Amino acid sequence: MKRAGIDGELGRAAHLNHARPMKSHRQELWFEVPTRRAFLNITPQVEAELRASGIREGLCLVNAMHISASVFINDNETGLHADFEKWLEKLAPEKPHSQYAHNHGEDNADAHLKRTIMGREVVVAVTEGELDFGPWEQIFYGEFDGLRRKRVLVKIIGE
Ligand code: ZN
Repeated sequence: MKRAGIDGELGRAAHLNHARPMKSHRQELWFEVPTRRAFLNITPQVEAELRASGIREGLCLVNAMHISASVFINDNETGLHADFEKWLEKLAPEKPHSQYAHNHGEDNADAHLKRTIMGREVVVAVTEGELDFGPWEQIFYGEFDGLRRKRVLVKIIGE
C-alpha cells in the first residue's frame, strides 16, 4: 500500500511537469570598464533578462565569468562603494605589484584576491515575475581588473 502511495506522488509530479515544463533562459552581459576598478549596478539588465525569459517562478543565477571580477548584492549607495574600495585596498593593495607571488608577467594578483572576497555569483528567487529582493538589495558587478571586455552570465530557470 505504501509503495502505491509513492507511485501516486510521482505520478502527480510527472503530470505537473508535463503541464508546465521548466523554462530556461541564458544570456551573457558584456562590460568594458574604463578604469581598473569599478562597481556597476547591473540590476536593470538582470531584470530585463527576467522579463525576456517570461519566467514567473524560479531562480536567477548571476555570475562573473572572470576570476578577477565579482557579482554581489548590496546597497546602491556611493559612500558604501567608496568604503568597499578602501577596505579591499587594505586587504589586498594593488601596489606594489611585486609583493605578490602571482605577479610573474601579470599584475592582477590583487584583483583575484578582491574577487574571491566579494564573491563569484548571486542567486535571487523569482516570485510572480520579479526578483524577490530584501530591502535595498541590488545586484552589482565588481570589476577589479578592467580596461577590457568582460562578461557576466545570467541563467534563469523556472516556469
Ligand atoms: Zn592573474
